[in-house]
Amino acid sequence: MLKTRGYAADSPVSNLKPFNFERREVGARDILIEIQFCGICHSDIHQVRDEWGGSIYPMVPGHEIVGRVAQVGADVKKFKEGDFAGVGCFVDSCRKCENCADGFEQFCLKQAAQTYNSTEMDRKTPTFGGYSSQIVVDENYALKISDEENLAGIAPLLCAGITTYSPLKRFNAGKGQKVGIVGLGGLGHMGVKLAASMGAEVTVFSHSPSKKEDARKLGAHNFVITKSPEDMSPLAGKYDFILDTVSAEHDLNMYLNLLKRGGAMVLVGVPEKAAEVSAFSLIVNNRTLAGSGIGGIAETQEMLDYCAEHNITSDVEVIPIQKIDEAYERTLKSDVRYRFVIDMKSL
Ligand code: NAP
Ligand code: ZN
Repeated sequence: MLKTRGYAADSPVSNLKPFNFERREVGARDILIEIQFCGICHSDIHQVRDEWGGSIYPMVPGHEIVGRVAQVGADVKKFKEGDFAGVGCFVDSCRKCENCADGFEQFCLKQAAQTYNSTEMDRKTPTFGGYSSQIVVDENYALKISDEENLAGIAPLLCAGITTYSPLKRFNAGKGQKVGIVGLGGLGHMGVKLAASMGAEVTVFSHSPSKKEDARKLGAHNFVITKSPEDMSPLAGKYDFILDTVSAEHDLNMYLNLLKRGGAMVLVGVPEKAAEVSAFSLIVNNRTLAGSGIGGIAETQEMLDYCAEHNITSDVEVIPIQKIDEAYERTLKSDVRYRFVIDMKSL
């Protein structure tokens, strides 16, 4: 077994602390990644604090992982030692069911092995995430990172990037479309960059007036402060597509009303409490309300290649792991510009 260092939470109310654990030996189809950077997703905070229920402790969070391939198993084809690789939100799935076969491993009918707060497919071995020195993963569940320039800015693509890319693609965001991004955090700022790169006219809906200038720099064309309903009413029925990335309780109907005929709103944010939707918000204009969960391996690779081609990375604040509590607190206050990424050298 491979001795590994990390940071873990012991309970929903404990801070993260140093934690030593073991990874499996590198199998024939596995690669060993020395983790260089790991992004801090708001999902890490939801799960550390058990806001979705069923959390498993000790929990080593982290599913925006990039690093250097330090060892490859005998049968590995996709990677060689010295390559750069990424790991996102899951590390295995059954590989046989309809969803796995169709490239939607995240919805594996036997339930994918999440990168942390989960078990391997044996349903016994706990999985530990990227706030750690190294990870062993089957090559089929690792992503190729071609661009070595800005690994810290690439790490958040593994979750925030794919979670916003996938629904934008699915709903054909592009030229001639008015797209709204609700919440300018880790997911939201990637949504802005990606939607703008696809040619859409992008509006940020934010409850943080201080983010206006940043929104423009990220590629947004308009900025609306959601605290003032008078700013919202002239926009009713104007949008083709809205991506809602908000992590806390909020009113969905206010945004649904902004959709034009046939428009769609996709939820990716996962607030602790369920939201109420008025049937009229959907009936008027034949609107669609949908959800989207990360992306499969092939689509995640497509997104990474797209970002490399279009020079898209995340805007990050790189921190040593010792600052994790402060990073969580600032994320909870919507004060992240726009993703915290842990430099694993600090571990
Ligand atoms: P984040 O960086 O904390 O961003 C969330 C943003 O939501 C904040 O920056 C803020 O934007 C807005 N917000 C927060 N509290 C609010 C409030 N009380 N009222 C209105 N707006 C508020 O979080 P993230 O990492 O982007 O994740 C966002 C959500 O997506 C989380 O719930 C996370 O678990 C979920 N998620 C889902 C998937 C998926 O596959 N569906 C994948 C990853 C993450 P403004 O300051 O601009 O208002
Ligand atoms: Zn995430």
